[in-house]
Amino acid sequence: MIRIAIDGPGGAGKSTIAKMVAEKMNMEYIDTGAMYRAIGWLFSKESVDTENEEAVRKVLDETTMDFEDNHVILNGQDISGEIRTPEISKAASICSKLPAVRSKLVALQRGIAEGKSVVMDGRDIGTNVLPNAELKIFLTADPMVRAKRRYDQLVEAGKEADLDSICEDIKERDYQDTHRELNPLKQAEDAVLLDTSDMTIEEVLHQIMTMAEEKDEQ
Ligand code: C5P
Repeated sequence: MIRIAIDGPGGAGKSTIAKMVAEKMNMEYIDTGAMYRAIGWLFSKESVDTENEEAVRKVLDETTMDFEDNHVILNGQDISGEIRTPEISKAASICSKLPAVRSKLVALQRGIAEGKSVVMDGRDIGTNVLPNAELKIFLTADPMVRAKRRYDQLVEAGKEADLDSICEDIKERDYQDTHRELNPLKQAEDAVLLDTSDMTIEEVLHQIMTMAEEKDEQ
């Protein structure tokens, strides 16, 4: 069994790489960011006051979430197509600060990963969700490079995008994710740092696969 934790800021290429590694190694991929996005989406849709602990708890208690083939199913509805917008990125970052949200999602994530090989990406996988993961990677890149990647993804998906505002959003989200009190984004002591600013996807994949295969043989 091998568990691979990939953490890092938004737009560093975590999900692209994690998906490829999972496919090559025939393992399950779990996108934890999508889970925070799903809660952000729900809270926006239902206008939940995130300052009101009781209201937050009530909505969370009534919420079910499943993860099937890279799709988030929230209360029985596949909302994967709705959660990749700049608004939902912000909403996810805001709701990810809330203790009730984190404890619900972390428990779910640990449950999904139990007893099997997985590739899981997020912000606190190596430090909190799977502290005993066999391989931990901290994937990062310069904010402007990450903004350009997000921009290209949005344009490719036929969505409107503005590079400068994406870059500002990315910097703001980096700040929020690294400065929050609970499980902030931070490189685990035993994680391998990969700065992908000047690397191609193939190069990143090759480096991670080499490390993963070594761990798998041990
Ligand atoms: O990875 P992605 O950009 O989809 O994540 C959206 C947001 O969810 C992040 O900005 C972060 O605030 C939150 N998140 C988190 N912990 C994780 C994964 C995501 O707090 N493990």
